[in-house]
Amino acid sequence: MGVGLKIGKIFGIPIELHVSWFLIFAMVTWSLADGLFPQEYPNMQPGLYWVLGVVTSLLFFGSVLLHELGHSVVALRDEVPVRKITLFIFGGLAQIEKEPPTSRSEFRIAIAGPLVSLALAGFFGLLWLLDKPFSFLAAPSIWLARINLMLGLFNLIPGFPLDGGRVLRAILWQRSGNFYKATRIAGRVGSVVAYGFIGFGALTIFNGNFINGMWLIFIGFFLQNAASNNVAISSFREALHGTTVERVMTYDFPKVPGNAVIQQLVDEQVLTTGQRYFMVADNDQLEGLLTLRDITKIPQRQWRFTAIRHAMVPLERLITVGPEQELWEALQTMDTNNINQVPVCEDNEIRGVLSREQVVRYVRLRSELGV
Ligand SMILES: [Zn+2]
Repeated sequence: MGVGLKIGKIFGIPIELHVSWFLIFAMVTWSLADGLFPQEYPNMQPGLYWVLGVVTSLLFFGSVLLHELGHSVVALRDEVPVRKITLFIFGGLAQIEKEPPTSRSEFRIAIAGPLVSLALAGFFGLLWLLDKPFSFLAAPSIWLARINLMLGLFNLIPGFPLDGGRVLRAILWQRSGNFYKATRIAGRVGSVVAYGFIGFGALTIFNGNFINGMWLIFIGFFLQNAASNNVAISSFREALHGTTVERVMTYDFPKVPGNAVIQQLVDEQVLTTGQRYFMVADNDQLEGLLTLRDITKIPQRQWRFTAIRHAMVPLERLITVGPEQELWEALQTMDTNNINQVPVCEDNEIRGVLSREQVVRYVRLRSELGV
């Protein structure tokens, strides 16, 4: 999603502010400090409107963060890893690394966020009731109660990728036992919802409210894009269903001795054959894996003196997959670890290598053959 500013970690999950977040933060603060608060409290000092605006805006985005943490905590409890939480122009996004293992788990993870928002709405509502005597707290707390209520309800709209769409998918998945079918249907409903937003946005513009209309149209396009992406990923996964690593991996992979220098390897093999990874082995004894990325980590002027052994990822740190593992799982392992190839090992012995290129080629061939 582009550049973001890391602001810290909660439960081990990195929290990130996307560049677009600063824009929405400024807009929300401004609309509060220059619109709502002067209207509610006509006699306040001008500077105080901005203090109240910034604090309320921060509390709002804190609420969005808590919503995403709601999803994340439940995901972590179900052993579904969370890569990071990003706050951006349309709110928040917890990047869950893989699909939940069961429909029940999906349901719990999806519903947790809106429940947090509804609970926050209740909390700020109470604050509004209790603090009516402290008048300056009344307007921010009722605003926060309303916006959290909206956040909770909006996310429960049953269109994928909104939380409600995930709830719908979990229910369909539970009923049919078919994850792919459930994803397709929830995706289709998501598209309908997205086009609904776009259409409603166009009507709103037609009725003279340009900014709100454009906003709805943007949200619609964002949702449409996410829904179709998700369906595409799910059908890719469906195409790989039942295929094991063994069927796609290569058995012949280049081996190089650990004491050879990088420069020699680059000149004699990388540039001439285009090979992007090498098994480092002396007398069939595997030592590690060397990829182009490992080579580029070494400054070029040192290539002539550095042995491959010092640039490679050694055996004990290598991530491997098994030959009988599902191809989709192996792909996820590569994704999670941000690597392009992974050694296939069985009983501590290397059997072959699986690369992304091979998987892409395999899927393309199958679709060309129509099998
Ligand atoms: Zn959510």
